[in-house]
Amino acid sequence: MNSIRLEENISLSNFTTWRIGGPAEWIAQPKNIEEIKYLIHWTTKKKIPCNIIGAGSNLLINDKGIKGLSLCMRNFKGIQIDKSLGIIDVLSGEMLPTLARKAAASGLHGLEWAVGIPGTIGGAVVMNAGAQEHCISDYLQSITTLSFAGDYTIINRKDLNFGYRYSPLQDDPCIVLSARLKLESGHAEKIRQLTNDNLNHRLRTQPYQAQTCGSVFRNPEPLKAAKLIEELGLKGFRCGGAEISKIHSNFIINANQASSYDVRELIKYIQERVFNSYGILLETEVKQCGF
Ligand SMILES: Cc1cc2nc3c(=O)[nH]c(=O)nc-3n(C[C@H](O)[C@H](O)[C@H](O)COP(=O)(O)OP(=O)(O)OC[C@H]3O[C@@H](n4cnc5c(N)ncnc54)[C@H](O)[C@@H]3O)c2cc1C
Repeated sequence: MNSIRLEENISLSNFTTWRIGGPAEWIAQPKNIEEIKYLIHWTTKKKIPCNIIGAGSNLLINDKGIKGLSLCMRNFKGIQIDKSLGIIDVLSGEMLPTLARKAAASGLHGLEWAVGIPGTIGGAVVMNAGAQEHCISDYLQSITTLSFAGDYTIINRKDLNFGYRYSPLQDDPCIVLSARLKLESGHAEKIRQLTNDNLNHRLRTQPYQAQTCGSVFRNPEPLKAAKLIEELGLKGFRCGGAEISKIHSNFIINANQASSYDVRELIKYIQERVFNSYGILLETEVKQCGF
Protein backbone atom coordinates (compact mmCIF):
# COMPACT_ATOMS: atom_id res chain seq x y z
CA MET A 1 0.00 0.00 0.00
CA ASN A 2 2.83 2.44 -0.78
CA SER A 3 0.52 4.74 -2.70
CA ILE A 4 -1.53 5.86 0.32
CA ARG A 5 -0.63 9.28 1.61
CA LEU A 6 -1.07 9.21 5.36
CA GLU A 7 -0.36 12.72 6.54
CA GLU A 8 0.16 13.94 10.07
CA ASN A 9 -0.96 17.15 11.72
CA ILE A 10 -2.83 18.63 8.74
CA SER A 11 -5.28 21.52 9.18
CA LEU A 12 -8.85 20.43 8.53
CA SER A 13 -9.99 23.92 7.58
CA ASN A 14 -9.46 23.04 3.92
CA PHE A 15 -11.69 19.99 4.39
CA THR A 16 -14.83 21.90 5.42
CA THR A 17 -16.93 24.39 3.49
CA TRP A 18 -16.90 26.65 6.56
CA ARG A 19 -13.08 26.71 6.28
CA ILE A 20 -12.92 26.14 10.03
CA GLY A 21 -11.17 23.36 11.93
CA GLY A 22 -7.91 22.54 13.68
CA PRO A 23 -5.44 19.80 12.75
CA ALA A 24 -6.17 16.15 12.13
CA GLU A 25 -3.71 13.96 14.01
CA TRP A 26 -3.70 11.85 10.84
CA ILE A 27 -5.51 12.26 7.55
CA ALA A 28 -5.86 10.10 4.45
CA GLN A 29 -7.94 10.40 1.28
CA PRO A 30 -8.30 6.85 -0.08
CA LYS A 31 -9.05 6.33 -3.77
CA ASN A 32 -10.09 2.70 -3.72
CA ILE A 33 -11.47 -0.03 -1.49
CA GLU A 34 -8.06 -1.63 -0.82
CA GLU A 35 -6.80 1.66 0.60
CA ILE A 36 -9.92 2.08 2.74
CA LYS A 37 -9.56 -1.45 4.15
CA TYR A 38 -5.87 -0.91 4.82
CA LEU A 39 -6.58 2.34 6.69
CA ILE A 40 -9.32 0.79 8.83
CA HIS A 41 -7.01 -2.05 9.73
CA TRP A 42 -4.26 0.48 10.52
CA THR A 43 -6.51 2.41 12.97
CA THR A 44 -7.51 -0.85 14.69
CA LYS A 45 -3.86 -1.87 15.06
CA LYS A 46 -2.91 1.55 16.42
CA LYS A 47 -6.07 1.66 18.59
CA ILE A 48 -6.95 5.14 17.39
CA PRO A 49 -10.39 6.49 16.43
CA CYS A 50 -11.46 6.94 12.83
CA ASN A 51 -13.60 9.91 11.90
CA ILE A 52 -15.18 10.12 8.45
CA ILE A 53 -15.35 13.27 6.38
CA GLY A 54 -17.13 13.64 3.06
CA ALA A 55 -17.03 17.10 1.50
CA GLY A 56 -17.19 18.66 4.98
CA SER A 57 -20.28 20.66 3.99
CA ASN A 58 -22.16 19.85 7.16
CA LEU A 59 -19.33 19.78 9.67
CA LEU A 60 -18.10 22.06 12.42
CA ILE A 61 -14.64 20.90 13.49
CA ASN A 62 -13.03 22.05 16.73
CA ASP A 63 -10.15 24.51 16.35
CA LYS A 64 -8.22 22.14 18.62
CA GLY A 65 -8.44 19.48 15.93
CA ILE A 66 -9.38 15.79 15.91
CA LYS A 67 -7.50 12.87 17.41
CA GLY A 68 -6.93 9.71 15.39
CA LEU A 69 -7.46 9.28 11.66
CA SER A 70 -9.68 11.61 9.64
CA LEU A 71 -10.73 9.49 6.68
CA CYS A 72 -11.74 11.86 3.91
CA MET A 73 -13.80 10.04 1.29
CA ARG A 74 -13.89 12.73 -1.41
CA ASN A 75 -11.45 10.88 -3.72
CA PHE A 76 -13.41 7.63 -3.65
CA LYS A 77 -15.32 8.20 -6.85
CA GLY A 78 -17.18 6.37 -9.60
CA ILE A 79 -20.62 6.38 -11.22
CA GLN A 80 -22.28 3.65 -13.30
CA ILE A 81 -25.59 4.41 -14.94
CA ASP A 82 -27.93 1.87 -16.52
CA LYS A 83 -30.23 4.18 -18.47
CA SER A 84 -32.72 1.53 -19.50
CA LEU A 85 -33.31 0.31 -15.94
CA GLY A 86 -32.83 3.72 -14.31
CA ILE A 87 -30.31 2.21 -11.91
CA ILE A 88 -27.32 4.22 -10.72
CA ASP A 89 -24.46 2.73 -8.71
CA VAL A 90 -22.34 5.44 -7.19
CA LEU A 91 -19.30 5.42 -4.90
CA SER A 92 -19.65 7.49 -1.78
CA GLY A 93 -17.06 10.17 -2.55
CA GLU A 94 -18.84 11.29 -5.69
CA MET A 95 -20.38 14.77 -5.35
CA LEU A 96 -24.17 15.11 -5.35
CA PRO A 97 -24.20 17.93 -7.96
CA THR A 98 -22.08 15.80 -10.32
CA LEU A 99 -24.48 12.90 -9.87
CA ALA A 100 -27.52 15.15 -10.45
CA ARG A 101 -25.95 16.50 -13.66
CA LYS A 102 -25.04 13.01 -14.92
CA ALA A 103 -28.51 11.67 -14.17
CA ALA A 104 -30.04 14.63 -16.02
CA ALA A 105 -27.72 14.10 -19.00
CA SER A 106 -28.87 10.46 -19.10
CA GLY A 107 -32.53 11.50 -19.20
CA LEU A 108 -33.20 10.18 -15.69
CA HIS A 109 -35.30 12.30 -13.41
CA GLY A 110 -35.53 12.44 -9.62
CA LEU A 111 -32.35 14.26 -8.60
CA GLU A 112 -33.08 17.72 -10.00
CA TRP A 113 -33.30 19.10 -6.42
CA ALA A 114 -29.82 17.81 -5.54
CA VAL A 115 -27.77 19.97 -7.89
CA GLY A 116 -27.02 22.68 -5.33
CA ILE A 117 -26.11 20.52 -2.34
CA PRO A 118 -22.30 20.54 -2.12
CA GLY A 119 -21.84 17.20 -0.35
CA THR A 120 -20.75 13.69 -1.26
CA ILE A 121 -23.13 10.76 -1.71
CA GLY A 122 -21.87 9.25 1.56
CA GLY A 123 -22.63 12.46 3.45
CA ALA A 124 -26.00 12.75 1.71
CA VAL A 125 -26.98 9.23 2.79
CA VAL A 126 -25.86 9.76 6.39
CA MET A 127 -27.66 13.13 6.57
CA ASN A 128 -30.57 12.07 4.36
CA ALA A 129 -29.92 15.29 2.46
CA GLY A 130 -32.84 16.84 0.71
CA ALA A 131 -34.55 19.91 -0.65
CA GLN A 132 -37.93 20.92 -2.04
CA GLU A 133 -39.81 18.03 -0.40
CA HIS A 134 -37.38 15.44 -1.81
CA CYS A 135 -34.57 13.61 -0.07
CA ILE A 136 -31.94 11.09 -1.10
CA SER A 137 -33.66 8.19 0.67
CA ASP A 138 -36.66 8.57 -1.69
CA TYR A 139 -34.42 7.27 -4.49
CA LEU A 140 -32.23 4.76 -2.67
CA GLN A 141 -32.50 1.04 -3.24
CA SER A 142 -29.58 0.00 -1.06
CA ILE A 143 -26.22 1.02 0.32
CA THR A 144 -23.02 -0.91 0.87
CA THR A 145 -21.18 -0.25 4.09
CA LEU A 146 -17.92 -1.29 5.71
CA SER A 147 -17.82 -1.58 9.49
CA PHE A 148 -14.81 -0.49 11.52
CA ALA A 149 -14.25 -4.20 12.15
CA GLY A 150 -13.85 -4.65 8.39
CA ASP A 151 -17.22 -6.30 7.53
CA TYR A 152 -19.18 -5.46 4.38
CA THR A 153 -22.98 -5.20 4.49
CA ILE A 154 -25.54 -4.42 1.82
CA ILE A 155 -28.47 -2.69 3.50
CA ASN A 156 -31.80 -2.32 1.73
CA ARG A 157 -33.52 1.00 2.01
CA LYS A 158 -36.48 -0.53 3.81
CA ASP A 159 -34.17 -1.61 6.61
CA LEU A 160 -32.91 1.93 7.16
CA ASN A 161 -35.28 4.04 9.20
CA PHE A 162 -34.68 7.37 7.46
CA GLY A 163 -36.27 10.57 8.75
CA TYR A 164 -36.02 14.30 8.19
CA ARG A 165 -32.23 14.89 7.81
CA TYR A 166 -31.80 11.65 9.74
CA SER A 167 -30.45 8.18 9.08
CA PRO A 168 -29.65 5.51 11.70
CA LEU A 169 -26.03 5.73 10.49
CA GLN A 170 -25.76 8.93 12.55
CA ASP A 171 -26.18 6.85 15.73
CA ASP A 172 -24.24 3.81 14.60
CA PRO A 173 -21.40 5.02 12.35
CA CYS A 174 -19.81 2.89 9.66
CA ILE A 175 -18.27 3.72 6.30
CA VAL A 176 -20.76 4.19 3.49
CA LEU A 177 -18.98 2.83 0.45
CA SER A 178 -21.63 3.10 -2.23
CA ALA A 179 -25.28 3.61 -2.97
CA ARG A 180 -27.67 2.17 -5.53
CA LEU A 181 -30.40 4.55 -6.67
CA LYS A 182 -33.44 4.02 -8.84
CA LEU A 183 -34.63 6.91 -11.00
CA GLU A 184 -37.34 7.19 -13.64
CA SER A 185 -36.87 7.98 -17.32
CA GLY A 186 -38.00 11.41 -18.39
CA HIS A 187 -37.58 14.12 -20.96
CA ALA A 188 -33.85 14.98 -20.96
CA GLU A 189 -34.25 18.63 -21.91
CA LYS A 190 -36.96 19.24 -19.26
CA ILE A 191 -34.85 17.53 -16.59
CA ARG A 192 -31.83 19.62 -17.54
CA GLN A 193 -33.90 22.81 -17.45
CA LEU A 194 -35.39 22.02 -14.02
CA THR A 195 -31.92 21.18 -12.69
CA ASN A 196 -30.60 24.55 -13.91
CA ASP A 197 -33.64 26.41 -12.53
CA ASN A 198 -33.11 24.81 -9.11
CA LEU A 199 -29.47 25.85 -9.03
CA ASN A 200 -30.32 29.40 -10.12
CA HIS A 201 -32.98 29.62 -7.41
CA ARG A 202 -30.35 28.69 -4.80
CA LEU A 203 -27.88 31.20 -6.15
CA ARG A 204 -30.55 33.90 -5.69
CA THR A 205 -31.77 32.86 -2.22
CA GLN A 206 -28.70 31.53 -0.40
CA PRO A 207 -25.22 32.94 0.32
CA TYR A 208 -23.91 30.28 -2.02
CA GLN A 209 -20.43 31.71 -2.63
CA ALA A 210 -19.77 32.38 1.07
CA GLN A 211 -18.07 29.99 3.51
CA THR A 212 -21.03 28.26 5.17
CA CYS A 213 -22.30 24.79 5.99
CA GLY A 214 -25.81 25.35 4.65
CA SER A 215 -28.64 25.40 7.17
CA VAL A 216 -27.30 25.32 10.72
CA PHE A 217 -30.57 24.40 12.42
CA ARG A 218 -33.17 21.75 11.69
CA ASN A 219 -36.57 23.22 10.93
CA PRO A 220 -38.91 22.82 13.92
CA GLU A 221 -41.60 21.53 11.55
CA PRO A 222 -43.98 22.89 10.43
CA LEU A 223 -42.10 26.12 11.23
CA LYS A 224 -38.94 27.31 9.49
CA ALA A 225 -35.84 28.07 11.57
CA ALA A 226 -34.83 30.85 9.14
CA LYS A 227 -38.14 32.65 9.60
CA LEU A 228 -37.94 32.52 13.41
CA ILE A 229 -34.39 33.92 13.36
CA GLU A 230 -35.26 36.59 10.82
CA GLU A 231 -38.31 37.73 12.81
CA LEU A 232 -36.01 38.46 15.74
CA GLY A 233 -34.05 40.86 13.54
CA LEU A 234 -30.88 38.81 13.84
CA LYS A 235 -29.72 38.95 10.21
CA GLY A 236 -26.15 40.24 10.15
CA PHE A 237 -25.59 39.63 13.89
CA ARG A 238 -22.02 38.57 14.64
CA CYS A 239 -20.00 36.67 17.23
CA GLY A 240 -16.33 37.23 16.43
CA GLY A 241 -15.86 36.34 12.77
CA ALA A 242 -19.13 34.34 12.50
CA GLU A 243 -22.15 36.16 11.08
CA ILE A 244 -25.81 35.31 10.53
CA SER A 245 -26.24 35.63 6.79
CA LYS A 246 -28.12 38.70 5.60
CA ILE A 247 -29.45 36.61 2.69
CA HIS A 248 -30.68 33.49 4.56
CA SER A 249 -30.88 33.62 8.34
CA ASN A 250 -30.45 29.85 8.89
CA PHE A 251 -26.94 30.18 7.41
CA ILE A 252 -23.92 31.24 9.48
CA ILE A 253 -21.11 32.71 7.41
CA ASN A 254 -17.43 32.59 8.19
CA ALA A 255 -17.21 36.32 7.53
CA ASN A 256 -13.76 36.99 8.96
CA GLN A 257 -11.54 34.10 10.08
CA ALA A 258 -14.21 32.72 12.38
CA SER A 259 -13.18 30.08 14.89
CA SER A 260 -15.27 27.09 15.90
CA TYR A 261 -15.71 28.93 19.23
CA ASP A 262 -17.26 31.95 17.42
CA VAL A 263 -19.70 29.70 15.55
CA ARG A 264 -20.70 27.80 18.70
CA GLU A 265 -21.23 31.05 20.60
CA LEU A 266 -23.43 32.34 17.78
CA ILE A 267 -25.38 29.06 17.71
CA LYS A 268 -25.97 29.34 21.50
CA TYR A 269 -27.02 32.95 21.19
CA ILE A 270 -29.56 32.14 18.44
CA GLN A 271 -30.91 29.20 20.45
CA GLU A 272 -31.37 31.41 23.53
CA ARG A 273 -33.08 34.22 21.63
CA VAL A 274 -35.43 31.84 19.80
CA PHE A 275 -36.21 29.92 22.98
CA ASN A 276 -36.89 33.07 25.00
CA SER A 277 -39.22 34.46 22.33
CA TYR A 278 -41.00 31.35 21.04
CA GLY A 279 -40.33 28.60 23.61
CA ILE A 280 -38.74 26.52 20.82
CA LEU A 281 -35.29 24.95 21.20
CA LEU A 282 -33.67 24.91 17.78
CA GLU A 283 -31.64 21.75 17.23
CA THR A 284 -28.54 21.87 15.09
CA GLU A 285 -28.45 20.04 11.77
CA VAL A 286 -24.70 20.55 11.41
CA LYS A 287 -22.52 17.79 12.90
CA GLN A 288 -19.90 18.87 15.43
CA CYS A 289 -16.58 17.02 15.63
CA GLY A 290 -13.85 17.00 18.24
CA PHE A 291 -15.69 18.89 21.01
C1 LIG B 1 -24.21 26.04 0.48
C2 LIG B 1 -24.76 24.79 1.13
C3 LIG B 1 -26.07 24.41 0.86
C4 LIG B 1 -26.60 23.25 1.47
N1 LIG B 1 -27.88 22.90 1.17
C5 LIG B 1 -28.39 21.76 1.70
C6 LIG B 1 -29.72 21.35 1.37
O1 LIG B 1 -30.44 21.99 0.60
N2 LIG B 1 -30.18 20.19 1.91
C7 LIG B 1 -29.42 19.43 2.75
O2 LIG B 1 -29.89 18.38 3.21
N3 LIG B 1 -28.16 19.81 3.09
C8 LIG B 1 -27.63 20.96 2.58
N4 LIG B 1 -26.36 21.33 2.92
C9 LIG B 1 -25.60 20.56 3.91
C10 LIG B 1 -24.70 19.45 3.34
O3 LIG B 1 -24.29 19.75 2.02
C11 LIG B 1 -25.39 18.08 3.37
O4 LIG B 1 -25.72 17.70 4.69
C12 LIG B 1 -24.49 16.99 2.74
O5 LIG B 1 -25.25 15.83 2.57
C13 LIG B 1 -23.26 16.65 3.60
O6 LIG B 1 -22.41 15.84 2.81
P1 LIG B 1 -20.83 15.85 3.04
O7 LIG B 1 -20.22 14.89 2.12
O8 LIG B 1 -20.32 17.24 2.98
O9 LIG B 1 -20.76 15.30 4.52
P2 LIG B 1 -19.84 15.84 5.73
O10 LIG B 1 -20.27 17.22 6.09
O11 LIG B 1 -18.41 15.65 5.39
O12 LIG B 1 -20.26 14.82 6.89
C14 LIG B 1 -21.59 14.82 7.39
C15 LIG B 1 -21.77 13.55 8.22
O13 LIG B 1 -21.73 12.42 7.35
C16 LIG B 1 -20.67 11.52 7.74
N5 LIG B 1 -20.12 10.97 6.49
C17 LIG B 1 -19.75 11.64 5.37
N6 LIG B 1 -19.37 10.77 4.41
C18 LIG B 1 -19.51 9.53 4.94
C19 LIG B 1 -19.27 8.20 4.45
N7 LIG B 1 -18.83 7.95 3.20
N8 LIG B 1 -19.52 7.15 5.29
C20 LIG B 1 -19.99 7.35 6.54
N9 LIG B 1 -20.20 8.58 7.06
C21 LIG B 1 -19.98 9.65 6.26
C22 LIG B 1 -19.69 12.37 8.53
O14 LIG B 1 -18.94 11.58 9.43
C23 LIG B 1 -20.64 13.33 9.24
O15 LIG B 1 -21.22 12.72 10.37
C24 LIG B 1 -25.81 22.49 2.34
C25 LIG B 1 -24.48 22.88 2.60
C26 LIG B 1 -23.96 24.01 2.00
C27 LIG B 1 -22.53 24.41 2.27
